[in-house]
Amino acid sequence: MAEIIVAESAGFCFGVKIAVEAAEKAGKEFGGAYTDGPIIHNKQVVSYLEKLNVKELDKNQELKEGDTVLIRSHGVPPAEERRLKEANVNVIDATCPFVKKVHEKVRQLVEEGYYVIIIGEHGHPEVIGTLGHLEESGGRGIVVSNMEELVKNLPRTGKVGVVAQTTQSEDFFREAVGYIAENIEEVKIFNTICDATSVRQEEVKKIAPNVDVMIIIGGKHSGNTNRLAQISRYLNPNTYHIEKADEIDPKWLEGKEKIGISAGASTPDWIINEVVEKVKELTSG
Ligand code: SF4
Repeated sequence: MAEIIVAESAGFCFGVKIAVEAAEKAGKEFGGAYTDGPIIHNKQVVSYLEKLNVKELDKNQELKEGDTVLIRSHGVPPAEERRLKEANVNVIDATCPFVKKVHEKVRQLVEEGYYVIIIGEHGHPEVIGTLGHLEESGGRGIVVSNMEELVKNLPRTGKVGVVAQTTQSEDFFREAVGYIAENIEEVKIFNTICDATSVRQEEVKKIAPNVDVMIIIGGKHSGNTNRLAQISRYLNPNTYHIEKADEIDPKWLEGKEKIGISAGASTPDWIINEVVEKVKELTSG
């Protein structure tokens, strides 16, 4: 059997755990809840929660008084929170405390007169929520998702404040911040990348170059899982991103002696365990 190295940081992060537990509780105690988009980027967990009547709100569906709405760990813009309050629905706020911290930092930067650069993915729900706080506090700023955008859009005068989407790559953050610091006289930086993300990324950087094959488990639409796969692939081309055990092609493991496994923050332990068992089965004998 091949040696299997499972990253200690693999699996649910603190914020996702809170959100999934809140969703389970909503299902069991309130008979269900609506979420604006999938509660986490993991199809298997989403379908488990659907059985508890926790489901995505349909775009054309009107909320009724007494409905329960669960705010996901990504958070929402303040205008959305107000809309929910006005609709008289029960709100369960499962916004991750680390995401709330990004909102606070944005408001602080605006109050202190900084132009705000959000290092993050355009259109990501967390970034939409953060932009909402920027607008609500009367601030000015932009989202940048790569160096090209930053170079093109960085204001040449005034003071600039920086925050990051919690799941951004540390490497891109460092590169972007370095460029801003070189070109702007007054800069205030808050590294709001959450530890859960950086610890996971650092562990993948250690494991991937030292194994024959690296398997990254997590939703294909999960930003943090995609970044883990990207980092791993850069260090080890034999990297495969799967959502569940039955996607493993036995050919990937033929003659391989050391297999590394990690998983995004929205991957539950039971899926990781199934993958470990499958790898054991395919590499024994
Ligand atoms: S990755 Fe970090 S910020 Fe995002 S939900 Fe998990 S703990 Fe919160």
